[in-house]
Amino acid sequence: MSTENSIRLGLWVLCITAGVALVGCIALLILMFSRGVQDGLIESAVQSQLQSVQERRERLDAEALHVFVCGAGTPLNREMAQQCLAVVAGDTTLIFDAGARSVVRLLDMPEIDPGGIDAVFITHTHSDHIAGLGELNLISWIGGGRTEPLPVYGAPDVTDVVEGFNRAYSPDGDFRTDHHGEGIAPPQGRPMRPHPFEPGIEMQPVYESGEVSVEAMEVVHPPVRGAVGYRVRHRDRSIVISGDTDLSEDLLKASDGVDVLIHEGMLKDVVALMSRIAAQEGAERLANIFTDILNYHADLAELQDAIAERQIDIRLLLINHLVPQPNFIIERRIKAIFDDAPYRVKLARDRMRISLPLGSAQVEVYPTGD
Ligand SMILES: [Zn+2]
Ligand SMILES: [Zn+2]
Repeated sequence: MSTENSIRLGLWVLCITAGVALVGCIALLILMFSRGVQDGLIESAVQSQLQSVQERRERLDAEALHVFVCGAGTPLNREMAQQCLAVVAGDTTLIFDAGARSVVRLLDMPEIDPGGIDAVFITHTHSDHIAGLGELNLISWIGGGRTEPLPVYGAPDVTDVVEGFNRAYSPDGDFRTDHHGEGIAPPQGRPMRPHPFEPGIEMQPVYESGEVSVEAMEVVHPPVRGAVGYRVRHRDRSIVISGDTDLSEDLLKASDGVDVLIHEGMLKDVVALMSRIAAQEGAERLANIFTDILNYHADLAELQDAIAERQIDIRLLLINHLVPQPNFIIERRIKAIFDDAPYRVKLARDRMRISLPLGSAQVEVYPTGD
């Protein structure tokens, strides 16, 4: 065969192959638009989603204390949900704070059964810690089938917050019960119930369920009234959740010997620099906000010094509620601060899971929850 004929034959083969591929694609598109195929795809998607919920719940080690990060962000963070931690210990599920968008993150975590939430604990009443409370109650009630009021613990102002949300969601609740009936939307499960306590300067018990206990103490977040930190114990494993606080000697003392200290953190030199840049650029309002927030959060370098000086014994420091928003420069700075620390240091991220198997010293970190 001549060279010219070979080229011609090659082109024909290429054209026929492309034509067959095109016809295949068109046929596939037509199939995709047929209702029967669509219904089949929807059916298998719903089935696999329901199966994966069941599998992930069964896979979660019942003999461990688990912490799920359902919101590590702040009002200045556009990427992460605002504050929320879910603690699962045996049959007990506890939520600490319910910031904006945190319910969406919780729904990303099939291990947590919304109807099985035993109690919510509020660290303080800043909006980035409570804005999602109404939605959290709604998914627990309608999504989870709650038949008892959801208990919400916190310093005395928690009563106002809970009653306010109950009132705001009251017409919605009535409509849902009228629509779904009392079997799906039982009125007695709808309102949250406040459990206020008066925090002291030392940890004091506020909740107990089987082998799980929660203690609370006041932290330093002026002018906020009743800002608290919590300590959770499940048999031999324990965590401390700082909530928003400036450096607190008492909280560090209460953290000595726990497995995980979940502490808020700020890089104050970076925030001060951001304030100066904002002022230079004429963004006075932003500059003032950056300056104002410097005096009620914990500087990470000072936190590291304080932990070292007092020889606070922890296995993992989980930095939460980080200001400024993390990026590779911020992460390098944090790494440099904690370079010689005798404990592990991680930045809290949405969907992260920390697991503490009972009867061991292990601290397992799953960055995306899997
Ligand atoms: Zn906050
Ligand atoms: Zn705050």
